[in-house]
Amino acid sequence: MADSTVNKTADIFNKTRLDALLNRRFFYAPAFEIYGGVAGLYDYGPPGSALQANIIAEWRRHFIIEEHMLELDTTIITPAPVFETSGHVARFADWMVKDTKTGDVLRADHLVKGVLEARLAGDKEARGLIAQPVKEDEKKRKKKIKSTAVKLEEEVVNEYESILAQLDNYSGPDLGDLCRKYKITNPDTNNEVGEPQQFNLMFASSIGPTGQHPGYLRPETAQGHFLNFSRLLEFNNGRIPFASAHIGKSFRNEISPRAGLLRVREFTMAEIEHYVDPEDKTHERFDEVRDVWLALLDRDVQTSGRSEVRDMTVGAAVDGGVIANQTLGYFLARIQQFLVKIGVNPSRLRFRQHMGNEMAHYATDCWDAEIHNSSGWTECVGCADRAAYDLSVHSAKTGHQLVARQALKEAIVTERLVPEFNKKTIGKTFGRDCAGLQKAVDALSEEELARLQGELGQGWTVVCVEGKEFTLTSEHVSVERKVFKQSIREYTPNVIEPSFGLGRILYILLEHNFWTREQDVERGVLSLPPIIAPTKVLIVPLSSKEEFVPLVREVSLKLRKAGIYSRVDDSNTSIGKRYARNDELGTPFGVTLDFASVQNRTMTLRERDTTSQLIGNIDEVITVVTDLVEGNIDWAGACKLLSAYDGVQAVE
Ligand code: AMP
Repeated sequence: MADSTVNKTADIFNKTRLDALLNRRFFYAPAFEIYGGVAGLYDYGPPGSALQANIIAEWRRHFIIEEHMLELDTTIITPAPVFETSGHVARFADWMVKDTKTGDVLRADHLVKGVLEARLAGDKEARGLIAQPVKEDEKKRKKKIKSTAVKLEEEVVNEYESILAQLDNYSGPDLGDLCRKYKITNPDTNNEVGEPQQFNLMFASSIGPTGQHPGYLRPETAQGHFLNFSRLLEFNNGRIPFASAHIGKSFRNEISPRAGLLRVREFTMAEIEHYVDPEDKTHERFDEVRDVWLALLDRDVQTSGRSEVRDMTVGAAVDGGVIANQTLGYFLARIQQFLVKIGVNPSRLRFRQHMGNEMAHYATDCWDAEIHNSSGWTECVGCADRAAYDLSVHSAKTGHQLVARQALKEAIVTERLVPEFNKKTIGKTFGRDCAGLQKAVDALSEEELARLQGELGQGWTVVCVEGKEFTLTSEHVSVERKVFKQSIREYTPNVIEPSFGLGRILYILLEHNFWTREQDVERGVLSLPPIIAPTKVLIVPLSSKEEFVPLVREVSLKLRKAGIYSRVDDSNTSIGKRYARNDELGTPFGVTLDFASVQNRTMTLRERDTTSQLIGNIDEVITVVTDLVEGNIDWAGACKLLSAYDGVQAVE
């Protein structure tokens, strides 16, 4: 919402200042702080909770309501067999390395990334290619991984850049090789690190008092959708495509949580599972997004060691095979629209395709919405085509058919050979072996059945079951050609999954919308869009005199009736300070009641980013501010409806 008329400080983002603001105003803070805290666990305070609730409300509007998705709320504690079947017990792991002397544990890919990036930064510094960063940030950066100003050979720089471009594609042993080849040691101790080992990220638990029923805290909500697939399909009258959606907590025992909310051990996810016919991944609303431009970083560019993005429309990307299908393309566009609507800077958003080795065990294609921030590019939304993996493995394990059925317009008529058993004679002759024998004959191919039919016509045939031979005659079985009419097609749907980590998005939004005014660098402004701002309107009475009380109450009630969340700041401090305090909370509008309000029922309206003010009758201002908050008009529109206010307050 901030525009060019706003008096911003130079575009240097100051993370130290933002972190201080978020802590001071209790957006969020380390959990269990007075016990010393636990890495990767955070509590949200009032503005953080309200911001998260507003992001969730907008997510529900943008996806669930707009697309008629079926919402779920499934359990967090999950019995172990579910994650054994889904593959998470065997494969939901990251690679870690241990300091050979201290035993400190580091995440292998983060270690390689941190060290190589620090060496590249050191090279740039040595060549005088980068400006000295601001003091506080420099301190923080040095604390992260020490970079010393050392020049590197051009060849080495190219190698490092190529490794970094495809870092996510390396296996554990590859990362071990890189540590040895490039002498990567623990930056805190300078000690060597050992071979990478896998560490499963799920929190293990046990269900009930016996300790005999192992379970896990879910690391994603997805399995809750899949296990309820049959019920969801029935709820949707058996029709495919449709989507289920779920907002809830997930848990991952991250090896080294860091960077605040960006990598935590407990976080809120919003996940969609969109079920499609594997033979038809078109999307009926694709034309609505065909012309949306996306910044794409595809897998071929990355595996060639580069990282430049290509700007393409979704239509061109799907038509050209860069994005595998319309449904995947549709969701990438919808994800972008959502992120931009809630305040992500579109020029710092890209979609990166996963490389072959990087893909999760269930995925056949995957694009991450990555957003640029002070830690670099961070994955905030994963959008994977999970194919039929999950529904197939759970069906196979449980015997419960997780399939869709489609009535065919024209029945498919086929003919094939089938064995017909004479139950009485076969049972009498083969006794306990009978069931196995029938199963083996049922499993024969068309060719083998034809051979059997020929041999039976001549008297007898021999069938081998687990190394044992049985002689069958036409008394036991006959083989006949039968006509089959199939009017129902049965198939396992494929699943396209957009998966959002809300904490990451929330933090990055705060970064993208944080700035300071030239005249007051100590106080920040959060230019959050009204739809997600924790408080929409600040009510500021100029005086605490009695005659203001009924007016404040009236404005507060009218805003409440209009569904607008407002707060009154009647503290005993200057109006400027009160506004500044609420600029820090991202409150987009302020209404001020002064002595003129008492005399002739006027009220001023202030916009956070420009600090410009309008004036009008109290009811008019409430109508305008309601329209502003609901996005029906923008500030330019408001300026046409109310008169400009020159800032001179009416005096007593
Ligand atoms: P994934 O299932 O790994 O693709 O994760 C889906 C989304 O969850 C990511 O795009 C992130 O936004 C979020 N996420 C995953 N791991 C974490 C974490 N440790 N902390 C915060 N958010 C996470």
